[in-house]
Amino acid sequence: MSRPRTIVVTGSASGMGAATARRLVAAGHRVIGVDQRDATVVADLGSAGGRADAVAQVTDLAGGADGAVDGLVTWAGLGGLTGRPGSLLAAVNYFGTIAMLEGLRPLLARGEQPAAVAISSNSTLVQPGVPLHVVEACLSGDEDVALAAAEAAGSFTTYAATKTALAWWVRRHAPGGEWAGAGITLNVVAPGAVETPLLQQTREDPTVGGFIDTFPIPVGRKGTADELAAFVEFLLGPDARFFCGSFLVVDGGTDAHLRPDDTPVPWNPQA
Ligand code: NAD
Repeated sequence: MSRPRTIVVTGSASGMGAATARRLVAAGHRVIGVDQRDATVVADLGSAGGRADAVAQVTDLAGGADGAVDGLVTWAGLGGLTGRPGSLLAAVNYFGTIAMLEGLRPLLARGEQPAAVAISSNSTLVQPGVPLHVVEACLSGDEDVALAAAEAAGSFTTYAATKTALAWWVRRHAPGGEWAGAGITLNVVAPGAVETPLLQQTREDPTVGGFIDTFPIPVGRKGTADELAAFVEFLLGPDARFFCGSFLVVDGGTDAHLRPDDTPVPWNPQA
């Protein structure tokens, strides 16, 4: 990218968000980082007040009510852990992300070649038993109902449910008037196992830690934060303007290995 852009990066304090912020700054762009710690905008995206505060602070930094941003990537998120409530994952991963997408959309609409990237996960494809009622509860937009369903399901399965709901939200909205119609590209990236503090925390978990390094990755290694950051930088840039509503798996081949014929699903409507 040549022209400097203003890009909002949530989850900028760690892992792939930090790697993305580093790359964008190195390329000369202005990054507004949003995180619950160590960020330009410090806010808790798990609460309604924190989300509103984040949108208000970003809006101020971007020039006020008539201001603009050119890009948004929503890395902020939590993994499932023993003892971590499912409701917290629904609040941060799904409702925190949607609040940033919706809250910053007016700023994006005034940006130049604006692009938004949401972050899902390949767990949507390769984790068995995703609770669809939690997915639907998230997509209903009723946070109380969704948090109750997520709490009952627990954080391990809720993780994949929140990431499925996000992917479907993006696919439902990206082609519509508020996004593509307003000139904003909106896409969703689904990383596989990427070596970050989140993955390390999961590796140390007493319930699921043992699975982390046994999951098949055909390329023979975990991803790096910078590889994912590079892809997101591309999606935010001028050469990615034809991407719209795409669900983009970057997982070293895990999904292709486990479910080769399940994507694409041919469309054969009944006459
Ligand atoms: P990470 O833990 O290194 O970084 C996540 C960041 O989100 C942290 O800086 C954290 O402070 C922030 N965050 C968490 N809760 C927040 C809240 N309530 N408000 C504001 N900020 C909050 O994780 P990562 O591995 O870089 O993951 C980034 C994203 O990628 C997450 O959404 C994760 O689900 C997704 N992902 C990760 C992997 C992986 O293997 N690492 C795989 C698939 C998807």
